[in-house]
Amino acid sequence: MLRRPALKKPSPPGPKDPVGVYCRVRPLGRPDQECCIEVINESTVQIHPPDGYRIFRNGEYRETQYSFKEVFGTLVAQKELFDVVAKPLVEDLIRGKNGLLFTYGVTGSGKTHTMTGSPGDGGLLPRCLAMIFNSIGPFQAKRFVFKLDDKNGVDVQCEVDALLERQKRDAMPVPKTPSGKRQIDPEFADMINVQDHCKVEEVDEDNVYSVFVSYIEIYNNYIYDLLEETPFDLIKPKPPQSKILREDQNHNMYVTGCTEVEVKSTEEAFEVFWKGQKKRRIANTQLNRESSRSHGVFIIKLAQAPLDADGDNVLQEKEQITLSQLSLVDLAGSERTNRTKAEGNRLREAGNINQSLMTLRTCIEVLRENQLYGTNKMVPYRDSKLTHLFKNYFDGEGKVRMIVCVNPKAEDYEESLQVMRFAEMTQEVEVARPVDRPLCGLTPGRRFRNQAFKEELAQKLEIRGGPIGGETEEQSASEILLQNFPPLPSCELLDINDDQTLPKLTEVLEERHKLRQKLSEEFAKNGNEVAGSVKFKREDEKVKYVDSLAVLTFKTILRELDSSVMSKENHFQGKLSEKEKIITGQKTELERLEKKIKTLEYKIEILEKTATIYEEDKRHLQQELESKSQKLQRQASDKRRLEARLQGMVAETTMKWEKECERRVAAKQLEMQNKLWVKDEKLKQLKAIVTEPKSEKPERPSRERDREKPIPRSVSPTPVPNAPPVRLRHRRSRSAGERWVDHKPPSNLPTDTVMQPHVPHAITVAAASEKALAKCDKYMLTHQELASDGEIETKLIKGDVFKTRGGGQAVQFTEIETLKQESPTGRKRRSSPSNADPPEDAADSEWTDVETRCSVAVEMRAGSALGPGYQHHAMPK
Ligand code: ADP
Ligand code: MG
Repeated sequence: MLRRPALKKPSPPGPKDPVGVYCRVRPLGRPDQECCIEVINESTVQIHPPDGYRIFRNGEYRETQYSFKEVFGTLVAQKELFDVVAKPLVEDLIRGKNGLLFTYGVTGSGKTHTMTGSPGDGGLLPRCLAMIFNSIGPFQAKRFVFKLDDKNGVDVQCEVDALLERQKRDAMPVPKTPSGKRQIDPEFADMINVQDHCKVEEVDEDNVYSVFVSYIEIYNNYIYDLLEETPFDLIKPKPPQSKILREDQNHNMYVTGCTEVEVKSTEEAFEVFWKGQKKRRIANTQLNRESSRSHGVFIIKLAQAPLDADGDNVLQEKEQITLSQLSLVDLAGSERTNRTKAEGNRLREAGNINQSLMTLRTCIEVLRENQLYGTNKMVPYRDSKLTHLFKNYFDGEGKVRMIVCVNPKAEDYEESLQVMRFAEMTQEVEVARPVDRPLCGLTPGRRFRNQAFKEELAQKLEIRGGPIGGETEEQSASEILLQNFPPLPSCELLDINDDQTLPKLTEVLEERHKLRQKLSEEFAKNGNEVAGSVKFKREDEKVKYVDSLAVLTFKTILRELDSSVMSKENHFQGKLSEKEKIITGQKTELERLEKKIKTLEYKIEILEKTATIYEEDKRHLQQELESKSQKLQRQASDKRRLEARLQGMVAETTMKWEKECERRVAAKQLEMQNKLWVKDEKLKQLKAIVTEPKSEKPERPSRERDREKPIPRSVSPTPVPNAPPVRLRHRRSRSAGERWVDHKPPSNLPTDTVMQPHVPHAITVAAASEKALAKCDKYMLTHQELASDGEIETKLIKGDVFKTRGGGQAVQFTEIETLKQESPTGRKRRSSPSNADPPEDAADSEWTDVETRCSVAVEMRAGSALGPGYQHHAMPK
């Protein structure tokens, strides 16, 4: 686990510091511009509305004052600002604490000037870099000793591994420019030329350090890596790929897959920044972006780990590494959309920019509210990438400082007011003070002891052997020679046509051999020189002396080497046992994992089986579904066919019925015409009766005969005068002896008068009976009703009985005879004509008489009754 201030929610208790808010007022662009901001003192600015905006209240001119931790006027130099605002952050960084510094303000207010600076007048960023390298310069780890992983963590490896990795990288086709031979870009050379060698005082010298930088841009709520190496395609330039944010195991936010470059000097670091800056500019031009709408985030990560007990190498323990970071943010212009006259795409982008700054504002507001009122409202960090990336800082992960930049010109008055209000509010937010990292348990001063030991050794060698080759280095000659040994190049042969690797290797080996020889020569020479200073009697004595001297020196060196080897061995032994422990731990872990794998495999098997079952089910169901849908389709088509058929039938039936109705209407019309004709006839006869009274009697028999003749059915709607329109049906011969149906409804009153008709051989019925009708050829209905004078009026409705074609009986009414009784005081009772005649005769004569005048046929089907509508009054005589 990485030793980092782990973040816990809610923010850790303990001392808190308010967000440090500083204000910087830039000079006016032109001296004739109207100014609306004045620096009152070192912590207060006064803002007053320009002429156009002047608001008068009670005749008074309204001015507002805003206070900040410190206010920097137009004459304040970059260095002064750096000393106050950024220096403490760099100190924190080196002590393993995080920091966030951002510049806030409208476009043109000097944010970039403050952060980056200009040639000859470097801003906070180059100054921070310079201070970092001034402080850790001599204690920097070799490249690749620290390795950042892709999960926001860091690892450490021994120097030999780091050396191998370096060699590997150097052997790569496009080697990274070694820091020594750097060609500084003249464009920024002036910016990093920070004269003052400010540095952190108490740097832990028993630590080794490495600096990593990354540079990202947040535009339109997308994160872009400005250091990403993308092959440039002239024909079809690829749009930059956006990155995503992740949370590491300590709940710190980081940009995934972001390039992090290990840098060893201010120049190198600033060069990396400048490269990103160029890329940003190019992207903005190519994609037609508004540069003031993007947030630039430069992140400096500092990895540090203690030296081992010998003070010689980095301690190979991941837990001992501290990774701190300083984020320098040049925010987008805080102006509102309407000010920028943005259109279309730009407007949308502007909206988003405002959105992320708005989210920043909201987050700060909520934080402030939570802290002021003890509420626990959720801070909407996730609403924008900007706030999401920095949420840890606000949640107590380091110092937060903000520089509010303002341009005092009148045009910016309203926006500046907004900026001031936000800045003032931000000051009320408190952030937990980062805790000091625990000190490493090893005794301090290891580095110096090690250095002193090395120096001592060299001195000893020097005393014994004197300066080698006239060199007056602190290091021993052998060490220097050893260091001068050229590193072995890569020996990997990847290509058969490779004709460079082997010659190179040979060359290096030859060089090494030469050096070795030189070393041994040097050594022998030293021995000789020492021997030369002693006088010998004999040459062989001298040789002996030289030999013994050499042996002695060798012995001393060997002893020293032995002791160093011993200490190393002990160290490695300890490490070995440690590693063994780790290995056993890993073995048990492996076993556990194997078991887990087995259970998981078993689970997978079961799940696979279940899946096959489900698949089978699915297939079945699909088949079923298909068959059902086919069935449904069939049914639908059947239904459609049926519908069509039914429609046909309906149409047919409708036609049939229409025809039938027409036919019936025609029949009814004919019938009505007949009735009309009968009425006409009756009227005519009435007229005749009225005009020629009692002169027609002898005529009657002949009329009856006429009636007996078949009369052709009239086709024309206008009836032929004197001809019945209805075809008369066959009637039983009267001479054969008529039989009567005497229909007397039960409601009739027995009058028992002389006028009571008596019909011999009649079948008397109370209701119309088909049976009776079948036996007779005459029909008579006796109907009684109350006349207007109160007397009972009896009506005899008579008719002929016919057999119908359908097998039923029909009655054709021929006459209605009215019998009425009158009191002697009143009119003489009218009765049927020829009172002296027997009723049968009378009736007969009446019928024959009336028959010609009234011929209405009513067909009576079996079971049907006569309706009252068919009662007719016989014409009174
Ligand atoms: P921003 O990044 O806020 O849009 P810049 O930093 O680009 O604004 O500033 C706009 C211009 O004003 C630049 O030309 C810059 O040199 C100048 N400027 C800003 N602040 C200062 C200052 N304090 N002193 C001198 N010039 C400044
Ligand atoms: Mg800018």
